Formats: sequence, C-alpha cells, structure tokens
Amino acid sequence: MSKRQLAMVMDLNKCLGCHTCTMACKTQWTRDEGQEYMWWNSVNTMPGKGTPKGWEEMGGGFEDGEARPGQMPTRQQFGEAWEFNYKEVFEGGQGKQTHLQVKDGEPDWGPNWDEDQGGGEYPNSYFFYLPRICNHCSEPACVAACPRKAIGKRDEDGIVVVDEDRCRGLRFCMEACPYKKIYFNDVIAKAQKCILCYPRLEHGVAPACARQCPGRLRHVGFLDDESSSVHKLVRKWKVAVPLHPEYGTAPNVFYVPPTNPKRLAADGRLDQSAPRIPAAYLRSLFGQAGLDALAIVEEEMQKVRDGGTSELIDLLVVYKWSGMFGGFDQDPATLRWV
Ligand code: SF4
Ligand code: SF4
Ligand code: SF4
Repeated sequence: MSKRQLAMVMDLNKCLGCHTCTMACKTQWTRDEGQEYMWWNSVNTMPGKGTPKGWEEMGGGFEDGEARPGQMPTRQQFGEAWEFNYKEVFEGGQGKQTHLQVKDGEPDWGPNWDEDQGGGEYPNSYFFYLPRICNHCSEPACVAACPRKAIGKRDEDGIVVVDEDRCRGLRFCMEACPYKKIYFNDVIAKAQKCILCYPRLEHGVAPACARQCPGRLRHVGFLDDESSSVHKLVRKWKVAVPLHPEYGTAPNVFYVPPTNPKRLAADGRLDQSAPRIPAAYLRSLFGQAGLDALAIVEEEMQKVRDGGTSELIDLLVVYKWSGMFGGFDQDPATLRWV
C-alpha cells in the first residue's frame, strides 16, 4: 500500500467518444518507435469486445486471494498500427486513381473497431462509451507477477510505474493484469504503461487525458482529500465505482455508471418499469454497487427536476473545470518544462 492514493473518476454520462483523451496521451507519451500500437488511453463502445479484443475474458487478477491465470494479449488483439499506402497516394502521381487504404489486405480488428455498434434491438438499442486507462490498483496484479520487482507503486501517490532499468521484458505483468493495460515495446524489449502523467502532476498539472477532455468528465485527486471531487464522488456520495471489482485488484479509476433511459413499449410509450440497458449487464461491469450508484444519481436528478438543489448534481455538471482536478489545476502553458 502507498501512503496516499491518487484516483480518477470518469462520469460515463458525459463521454462523447471523441478520443481527444486518447490522442492527448498518444501525442504526449507514446510517439517513439515500438510504441505505434500503444493506446494507454482507449475508449470503447459498450457492449463491445474492446481493446485488446475480448480483454474481459482473458483472465488475470485475483480470485479468493489467489492469482488467477491470465492470457497475454497479442498485437493482433490490440489492433496493430495499420500501414496505409500514403506514398502511393501522395507521392506516386496516382492520387486520382488510387484511394487511401490499408496495405497488406483488409484489417479485421482495431482499437476502436466496434465503435457505436452497441447492443439491444431497435428501438431499444443502446450503447455508451467506456474510456480506460491503467487503474493504478491498490492490489496490482502486475506488481505481484513481476519476478524482477520492476513494477511498483509510488509511495507518495500510489501511481504504478515500470522501472525500465529493471524490466527484462518477461511480460508476466501483461498476463497478470486483468484489464490488459500493459504493452510491450519490442524495440527496447520493455513493458510500458500509463504513468498517470506523473511528470505533469509533479508540476501541479492534471493528466493530459483529463485536462484535454472536452466533456469535463474526468475528475482527478487524492482519495483522502475531503475537498476533492474525487473524494466526494467515491467516498461521500458513493456514486463512482470500480470496473470489474471482482478482478480483485482494487482499482483506483472509478466510474459513474450511465443513467438508463426507459424502454419503449410496442405502442411507442415509455415503459417506466424497464430500463433500456439491462441491469444484469451493468451489474456484470460494476457489480451491485454500480446499480446502487445509479439509484443515487437518479434520485438526485429527480430532486433537481423538482426544483431543488443537489451538491452531487453540481459536482457532476462541473461548472468550473478547475474544481475537478483536486488542486492539479496549473496551466501547462505557463510552466517551464525540463
Ligand atoms: Fe497493474 Fe493492470 Fe492494475 Fe494497471 S490496471 S495497476 S497494469 S493490474
Ligand atoms: Fe496517458 Fe497520462 Fe492519461 Fe495515463 S493519465 S492515459 S499517461 S494521458
Ligand atoms: Fe470521452 Fe473525454 Fe475521452 Fe472525449 S476526451 S472520449 S469525452 S473521456
């Protein structure tokens, strides 16, 4: 356990699926050779297979205190970086005859392959976006699995980092992480993963994926800081819950589950008794705590609709962006980076 723990809360009711977060991370941290296929931040449409493809069925984590065997995802399952025929189109003088396309045949998977596909049947089809980063878990399976002790939690903030000097590229961490959020850089033969933007945090600047998010849905802060929105959403209001808590790693990324419209009945009226996203599906992602969280959010929303006020709804609306970063609200443009 670390002395303190930083956490992120993502309100799934506000995610636009725009991937600004994904690109903010990519352009900041994974532009080197060997990192082409890495998306430390990914956003998937749920229900869907996600990235790597079918990650929820790949095992890892803990069950009854014992390590659960896990698979190592392949490059293909992550959805490799596709090669396009740029040269042919832009430099070959064939621009009018040739279309931009992926080289070497049709791709059959990619990191955002099942975008907007969703589940259910019209008119009761549904989907929502699920952004994912490393959870900086309190019981990290990746740390437990590494025989080189090359992964650890920082004492001061609980961020899980790889010590690349110690890493020998054994990849047990990739098998062990049940969220499949560790990547392998085969150019330098090291495991690499989200670092929660600790160099930014050390300058008082929120992580890039959170700061750039136009939806204002990613709260950041120390869990024990009672003034932070993270603390209030997780500990006080209990509306932000971990994804797949049954994986046993005690994640520190928490989600406000998506509020759920009612189903349309055959006569076109709303069926007040039936939610469109099946409760069993939400329970499979967030456990019963997810459904309990939803009930609290919906109750507070109704209070506001009836003309009342709600601290919770004000927190989720985020009237002022700086209020959602637990003090990490420095403007990166004003700092001198070394
Ligand atoms: Fe480790 Fe995976 Fe947890 Fe991140 S999400 S700390 S990589 S077990
Ligand atoms: Fe990338 Fe930083 Fe977000 Fe992690 S916290 S996914 S390193 S931008
Ligand atoms: Fe969702 Fe924000 Fe990422 Fe856009 S930037 S996909 S709104 S989390």
